[in-house]
Amino acid sequence: MADLQTNLFINNEYVPSSSGETLTILNPKDDSLVTDKVQAATEQDVDKAVAAAKAAFRKWRKTPSWQRSAIMLKYADLVEQHVDKIAHLESIAMGQPISIAKVMVSVQISSFRYYAGLTDKIPGESYPENGDGVVKMVNYEPLGVCAGISAWNGTQVFVGWKIAPAVAAGNTFIFKSSEKSPLAVLYLGELFKQAGFPPGVVNLISGGGKVGSLLASHMEIAKISFTGSANSGRLVQVAAAKSNLKHVSLELGGKSPAIIFADANLDNAVAHNSQGFLINSGQVCFAGSRILVQSSIASQFVKKLQTAFVGLGEKMDDPASESTFLGPLADKAQFDRVMGFLDGAKQDGIEVLTGGGRKGEQGQYVEPTILMNPDINNRVYTDEIFGPVVTVKTFETEEEAIEMANSTTYGLGATIYTNNLTRAMRVQAELEAGTVSINTAHWVVPETPFGGVKQSGYGREGGLEGIKAFLEPKTVHINMRMPQE
Ligand code: NAD
Repeated sequence: MADLQTNLFINNEYVPSSSGETLTILNPKDDSLVTDKVQAATEQDVDKAVAAAKAAFRKWRKTPSWQRSAIMLKYADLVEQHVDKIAHLESIAMGQPISIAKVMVSVQISSFRYYAGLTDKIPGESYPENGDGVVKMVNYEPLGVCAGISAWNGTQVFVGWKIAPAVAAGNTFIFKSSEKSPLAVLYLGELFKQAGFPPGVVNLISGGGKVGSLLASHMEIAKISFTGSANSGRLVQVAAAKSNLKHVSLELGGKSPAIIFADANLDNAVAHNSQGFLINSGQVCFAGSRILVQSSIASQFVKKLQTAFVGLGEKMDDPASESTFLGPLADKAQFDRVMGFLDGAKQDGIEVLTGGGRKGEQGQYVEPTILMNPDINNRVYTDEIFGPVVTVKTFETEEEAIEMANSTTYGLGATIYTNNLTRAMRVQAELEAGTVSINTAHWVVPETPFGGVKQSGYGREGGLEGIKAFLEPKTVHINMRMPQE
């Protein structure tokens, strides 16, 4: 296999872009050039991928489910065998520490294994004749050619969440990685081929927003599964509406609250709001970036949190090293974005308890940062920063905590820390979020669906909901009162 694959993967072949247009990838740990040869897809390439996926769909949807499962399981095994290489490619493109990149790859693997087990468990419904002379059936069918548009922060997870349920349900797929992290995805093409996926079932293309919008407005794509920012998600939805009214699911941003009650196990709460928050340098959509702590324990909690942030900051280093916990941010644009928030916070007089600046002389490193008591209208409290920056505010009562937690346009995740399970269950029911985790930072597993409410998007990935999202019900009515021959 090529050491660094930069071509598009269409119809089980690696091919250059029809225009020769390329993307450049710099390693954010030191801004060294990784490659300037990643082939960016054009409209012609997108059409070629759609044509391949469309042709493949006719056979793939009719491929026996055991065969689809066997190919998916073989693919998962191959990914497992190549985990070091895949993690390395992810790491050199967007700075993910190698240990974290391996965890992301493991999520992709478990997603393929989980959905491989569901290919023959897609149920239908039937309803008997009911005095109306009609027997009724509902069958669930694949949608056709589906496409995924991905953010860069957890590309390996999104490959699993999008491609696995789609192909398990009999759809064919075009996956567009983010322009910031195309390398590991391209490497997967060879593994899809080796596993036995027929040509055209899985196609992998690279490119920026322009390529994403070509997919979103394509007349022959049946569904877009989008992961990214709310702004781009809106554009995808508009493009879908203006073209063929394709299905759209949107996994967007978050500003998730973490509520810490006075009766919480403090060390547990600190661990999950430091290590659990800072994983992937806080570049996680469901990261609990708004800590709300009950005032009676606030000073004790904050002191411990500060110690934890400082300690983890010492494990910010070269992402290629196995012992590194925190790497650089994905690129200069992401660094500038996060520093913009921090500079703004300082200008607004917000207390910076720890961190607040660049770390080191080179690369896109930002220190783990705690901002104390920002105004509820301040940008650092309302907007997704998507970096290692957490805000802390205090509350007095349960009602106030719920009110503060829900005062956001987002609704992706929420976490609750308390030793009182009754309280935890009462509060979770009031929180406007797609997932709520109790006494733990949220982490994804194959069995449960993941997604948001409010402006964090709609639709779910993972679990049974994840495969339903790639199926369409077809109603069949049978007239039982035909005249006898
Ligand atoms: P982004 O919106 O800039 O880009 C995401 C993807 O959309 C990229 O592949 C990009 O090329 C593409 N794109 C850009 N403009 C487009 C357009 N007009 N039409 C179609 N595609 C377009 O987001 P990002 O910076 O890559 O990712 C960070 C964001 O993603 C954060 O807001 C984060 O919270 C969110 N995110 C959400 C989840 C989730 O599951 N909810 C997971 C990870 C990241």
